[in-house]
Amino acid sequence: MTRREKVLDKLGEDALLVTDPVNVRYLTGFTGSNGQLLLAKESVFFTDGRYITQSAEQVRDVDRQIYSQGSKLTDLLGKALADRGITRVGVEASHVTLATMQRLRDGLSGIELVETTDVVEKVRMYKDEKEVSAIKTAQRRTEAAVADVLRGFAGGMESDLAIELEVALRTTTDGPSFDIIVASGAHAALPHAHPRREPVDMQNLLLIDIGSKVDGYCSDMTRTFLGPNAPDEMRKVFDAVLEALEAGCAAVKPGARCADVDKVCRDVLTDAGYGEYFTHSTGHAVGLDIHEMPAFAPSSEDVLEPGMVMTVEPGVYLEGVGGVRIEDMMLVTGDGAENLTAMPRGSSLPS
Ligand code: ZN
Ligand code: ZN
Repeated sequence: MTRREKVLDKLGEDALLVTDPVNVRYLTGFTGSNGQLLLAKESVFFTDGRYITQSAEQVRDVDRQIYSQGSKLTDLLGKALADRGITRVGVEASHVTLATMQRLRDGLSGIELVETTDVVEKVRMYKDEKEVSAIKTAQRRTEAAVADVLRGFAGGMESDLAIELEVALRTTTDGPSFDIIVASGAHAALPHAHPRREPVDMQNLLLIDIGSKVDGYCSDMTRTFLGPNAPDEMRKVFDAVLEALEAGCAAVKPGARCADVDKVCRDVLTDAGYGEYFTHSTGHAVGLDIHEMPAFAPSSEDVLEPGMVMTVEPGVYLEGVGGVRIEDMMLVTGDGAENLTAMPRGSSLPS
């Protein structure tokens, strides 16, 4: 089945108006900033005049319609629905603003708009070989960039190091998959630290959370390095986090409950006395978005299946002292899992 067929199969309606740009890309190949897909037995792709050439190249197997001066999306959409005899259409409730919803209601008289959630996202959970290969390539290139930049880093601010890493990624990939985190010393106690105009202390602790995109697909990795002056407690924390990571990765296999993988990591840190300092969930799926479904969270009801690509990223954050997070990406396979991260997890800087 094609991606579009899989979504229609799950939908339970005759048509879905896909408006989230990432979902549109997934279903059509279109990478522009403005495009919509009426997903139906005979789908139609809509975009504006800026994308005539690009959409002709990228969207080859779907009827394309361009709105420009004088015609609105709802005009073309209304006609497409009428031509197909469709009177009920799903909308992506998580991606449509109240204003857009009102425009659709006003412009599509006689059409019932049905709220749907995560229909495309649930199909996106299962990555095919090509998608996995893009994620792997993004990860390999990120690892090379991190090793190169750290070896050559002459010292400077956290933001300088983040910029060097970003330049390296922009040279070899489509660019970073999220804002790179570089946190030195006690600043690493903030799980989502923003790089500051403050010096990196290579003798203390350094946390880097980084990923890149290749063909639209994201990678995600965190490494924490401990210099000779890192607080003693951080070595204990590092060992506990590494043990949690190893236990979590070993629990990743088809049939495992996402909540259980979270618990495996959390239990290791709780036993080490750091449970209350592990303040986020254990991991998330990656794909065209950096955070996708499912998640390794205590409340998750999802079960792992082959083709899912998940991060495992336990962390412990001690205010005023520092933080350690180690993050790998795992592919769930038919009989277990493959770790897509090759960079050593150790605490010493690449040499
Ligand atoms: Zn990360
Ligand atoms: Zn992550």
